Amino acid sequence: PRLVVAVDGPSGSGKSSVSKEVARRLGAAYLDTGAMYRAVAWHCANSQVDLTDPEAVLAAAQGIELVISVDPDAERVVVGTEDITQAIREPEVTAVVSTVATNMPVRQLLVERQRQMMDTHRRIVAEGRDITTVVAPDADARVLLTASAEARMARRGIQLGGTVGEKDLKEQISGRDAKDSTVVDFMTPADGVGLVDSTELDLEQTVTAMLGEIER
Ligand code: C5P
Repeated sequence: PRLVVAVDGPSGSGKSSVSKEVARRLGAAYLDTGAMYRAVAWHCANSQVDLTDPEAVLAAAQGIELVISVDPDAERVVVGTEDITQAIREPEVTAVVSTVATNMPVRQLLVERQRQMMDTHRRIVAEGRDITTVVAPDADARVLLTASAEARMARRGIQLGGTVGEKDLKEQISGRDAKDSTVVDFMTPADGVGLVDSTELDLEQTVTAMLGEIER
């Protein structure tokens, strides 16, 4: 049967790992919408687009030839002929992605593309900041994944291999969340959205809790 699962949450909540594993278990596709905002940010940085110019950023987003895989076992992000799967995770991209994400016309454009991608898959888990509220408010299951600020910091620190100091980590997480929060609320579950708090849970336990929410 058709199944659309929407997952939102702040950075470091474990959203990506959990959503990917949930998609595998459900035999579903997996859409990382954050990767699309990152791809636009990468594209701007790499084609000398002035990030402080909202119209230039919109034009860049409109012109981007973006291909993103929806296989939970083979994440791939390609712009034009360039594979930027790794590049979009670099701190330089993370540092500027909120500028792209707070550009409302750019959001509208990406939300439209996300809806189109979701429509072409019978079963899909889509993950981001506004999936439960804006992109797919009518999804079959909607879950907000949270964790304490301490847990989120610790996870991101591990993810980045301990190469980033605590101050930079804090800036990367709370700074970005604060900026992102000005355009979309991903800290409190909207009406009808289930809440999973992963602070005290490992990956397997979080996946189980998430699958429980999806079955309800
Ligand atoms: O999930 P990830 O941390 O990769 O997302 C990168 C950025 O993309 C977020 O910080 C946010 O600015 C933006 N984003 C968004 N809406 C989404 C997904 C991501 O604004 N649905």
